[in-house]
Amino acid sequence: MKNATSSYRQKNNQSAVGKTIPLPVVDMNPTDTIAAIASPLGTAGIGVIRISGPGARSIAARIFRSPKGNVGEFGSHTAHYGSLVDPDTEELIDEVVATVFWAPNSYTGEDVVEISCHGGLAVLKRALDAVLRGGARLAEPGEFTRRAFLNGRIDLAQAEAVNDLIRARTDNARRAALRQLEGRLSKTIRGISDRLLGVIAAIEASIDFPDDVDEPDNGWMREEILTVKSSLEELIGSFDKGRIYREGLRVVIAGRVNVGKSSLLNALLRHARAIVTPIPGTTRDVIEENIEIHGIPVVAIDTAGIRTTDDPVEKIGVELTQAALESADLILVVIDASEDINQADMELLNQLKNRPVVVVLNKIDLVSEESRDSKISFFQGLERNRPVVLTCASSGQGIEELENTIATLVASGDIESESAIVTNARHLQLLKSALNSLQHSLDTLESGEPIDFLSVDLSAARNSLGMITGEAASEDLIDRIFSEFCIGK
Ligand code: GDP
Repeated sequence: MKNATSSYRQKNNQSAVGKTIPLPVVDMNPTDTIAAIASPLGTAGIGVIRISGPGARSIAARIFRSPKGNVGEFGSHTAHYGSLVDPDTEELIDEVVATVFWAPNSYTGEDVVEISCHGGLAVLKRALDAVLRGGARLAEPGEFTRRAFLNGRIDLAQAEAVNDLIRARTDNARRAALRQLEGRLSKTIRGISDRLLGVIAAIEASIDFPDDVDEPDNGWMREEILTVKSSLEELIGSFDKGRIYREGLRVVIAGRVNVGKSSLLNALLRHARAIVTPIPGTTRDVIEENIEIHGIPVVAIDTAGIRTTDDPVEKIGVELTQAALESADLILVVIDASEDINQADMELLNQLKNRPVVVVLNKIDLVSEESRDSKISFFQGLERNRPVVLTCASSGQGIEELENTIATLVASGDIESESAIVTNARHLQLLKSALNSLQHSLDTLESGEPIDFLSVDLSAARNSLGMITGEAASEDLIDRIFSEFCIGK
């Protein structure tokens, strides 16, 4: 992609897509130079200040002293040891390394200087202050990546992937983000968009030159649209898996009081790899823990015991449990196997009919073999295809099988395959809207309406796709996306 602004303008001047819905032109040709601390604030081995823009060379020259000469004249992609000084007083601030990347071969596509200081708070604050007084302005969140996008280094979907990569909590999330950053999603979307353009161009040519160009064949157009439609459906279908890799599978542990829910969560925590320290829920009644099961990030949620109550405090707990159940991707219904089958258990299972549930028969150590078998067949008989797993949460017995069951249910939890995967809700929405336009175009084709109507629908679909990659993105949208980034990225 060339510059987003120019490619957007070109697109709107093309007669073949003359009916593209007009969008505000993104007018960004940054003339100022931005700077920010690009590493986390705190004590660390090194801390990095990043400077980008047309003034990066001269600002660096004002604050960086090297025996080798003027930093602004060093070759691109080279690193230099030197002194960082106050631009007004020449006072030494730190001994640093300056790495220079000159336009257009830098992260942003502009002149970039990165100054690696000692990673202390006072050093970084003072160094940033020197850079700002040297002539830079403080960068907005995500502004470096925004410039990379506006300079055509990456498209919008790739820019969003940068943020996902930084925020990835598991190896699979990292891989999914990296794949998007490499441009796999963008390439798939462009392929789809180009295919649509082929149909639009054929229609427009027959409208513009009716004497020379025949109307395209209906059967051919239908085939083309159906092919594109199925590619879109495949992308939309990848979202659930993508979301799970990004946000984690929400596994809710539900059941009556004392059946062993907390013990089960603890057993899963001990066995699975805990990703972060416990996040207490908004009240003591719902506890969330992030764990990883077979490479799948899992948010395990231990709920308050299910029971009806008049106590207002307990009521809140019960309501939170209901909310957790509604948002769950998978529910582990824990049942105390050492007790008789209980009315409340049955009500819960009934309430969760048609939801993905694993029945966990816990405290199996307290049950004779005979009654164990009859319990299993009873619960398996309630609803076929619902896995039943036996556990002893206090000893960890059966936890591995429970994990395997969870991983199998997520359906082939690997994202090794080559196909593009959608992880972002914004992309999903736009793909759905493109699909809608295509469906509309098929209806138009079917009803025998004039073919320029068809061209309008197909252009609308292309427009939705262009909002994913950024060719057709408004400035508001771009603002919104980059505001979710951290400063310095
Ligand atoms: P919750 O109220 O559902 O969270 O239940 P807890 O996890 O607090 O467990 C209630 C009691 O059952 C505790 O005393 C646990 O030690 C005990 N418990 C939990 N799981 C097992 C198990 O598999 N076998 C046995 N024998 N006791 C268990």
